[in-house]
Amino acid sequence: MTMPPSLSQLISCQDDYDPNSMPVAQAKTFIRDFLSPVTATETLPLKAALGRVLATSIISPLNVPSHDNSAMDGFAFHSRDITSSSLNIIGTAFAGKPFKGTLQAGECIRIMTGAVIPSGADTVIMQERAQVSGDIMTILEAPKPYANVRYAGEDLKAGQAVLETGRQLRPAELGLIASLGIGEVSVYRRLKVAFFSTGDELVSIGSPLGEGQIYDSNRYTLYGMLEKLGVDIIDMGIVHDDPATLEQTLIQASTQADVVLTSGGVSVGEADFMKQLLEKLGQVVFWKIAMKPGRPLAYGKVGKAHYFGLPGNPVAVMVTFYQFVRDALLHLMGQNPVPTLPLLKATCTEPIRKLAGRTEFQRGILFTDSTGVWQVRPTGNQGSGILRSMSEANCFIVLDEAIGNLPAGTEVHVQVMEGII
Ligand code: AMP
Ligand code: MG
Repeated sequence: MTMPPSLSQLISCQDDYDPNSMPVAQAKTFIRDFLSPVTATETLPLKAALGRVLATSIISPLNVPSHDNSAMDGFAFHSRDITSSSLNIIGTAFAGKPFKGTLQAGECIRIMTGAVIPSGADTVIMQERAQVSGDIMTILEAPKPYANVRYAGEDLKAGQAVLETGRQLRPAELGLIASLGIGEVSVYRRLKVAFFSTGDELVSIGSPLGEGQIYDSNRYTLYGMLEKLGVDIIDMGIVHDDPATLEQTLIQASTQADVVLTSGGVSVGEADFMKQLLEKLGQVVFWKIAMKPGRPLAYGKVGKAHYFGLPGNPVAVMVTFYQFVRDALLHLMGQNPVPTLPLLKATCTEPIRKLAGRTEFQRGILFTDSTGVWQVRPTGNQGSGILRSMSEANCFIVLDEAIGNLPAGTEVHVQVMEGII
């Protein structure tokens, strides 16, 4: 196994590296190059593997479907009889109860969807295109030869790779694996993520607020986002801005978890102190990302754990999580390829104020107008502390670095939150 490069090696490879103005895409690439996915695996019963990532490819042990079968309710017969006006009905085939005989010229059987095509037949006529009188079936509208037959192995062939290593198991994959008769799968172990909030002003819910204090909300948004990704969560509470306690908590977190997330303490003024601490404990870089919200971000390793120092502002925490941490965690979980969040286009109903030179993730409400066209309306106040804007929104309006102010009616990119939030 090749060792990942050190942070300083990676930085020295980049000509245009500027920690004080780091483009979003460059920061993402930089992080990606530094990650090393988990390798430990476990074998789980199929249902327990929902949301997990395959550690080996799934090879089909059989043909799916296993037999040629009917795609319709109707009548099965041989294609040479297509020009006959009527055929004798000599039996019935149900799904799971085949017709055992062999059809002769001039004969047909009644057949249900999923029933095995009997010997001597190769074509099915839909029941709506036939008329029955006693044991006689009259062809009203002749099908094409071989019509309405699903062939053995048409879906999957025995020996074929069905799912590759690195695929996350969603409901469709569970069903697909079950259709092969496979009851257990090898998946990567769950990722362990520890997090804590930093700040002298923070109070946990359940205690009254003193003067100048605020409730810690970041641990709740982080909990929710991490839970949705299916990682093991270690909530280490609030740590006040005290170097000794911070050091102790960082060390404890990094020995227990694969990834450590902190919020707060990386903005200008606070960063010096975290910088010294993180330099002592690992290799961490401090960036000012060219984005809003979410300008300050620290990234690197503390001991063996990957480390993300997120900004303190509640919206900035969520935006930096979705733009940087989510991708990184999916990669660390073994997902390959990591699915990117799609960018869709919608017409913005309001003018947008935007500074060129940074990527902005404004919060928006996506809706369809009376003609079914997608439109987006920014939520009101876009301040990075206004968590209500995240709650009201159902999408991010993603405005690239080059974009400046926009008039109402401009087409913009949106990233839908449904499914990721
Ligand atoms: P910082 O990055 O530590 O300078 O914090 C930036 C802003 O976010 C300040 O107004 C903090 O009070 C606020 N903040 C920091 N941590 C939290 C938290 N866990 N919950 C809510 N607000 C926070
Ligand atoms: Mg702070």
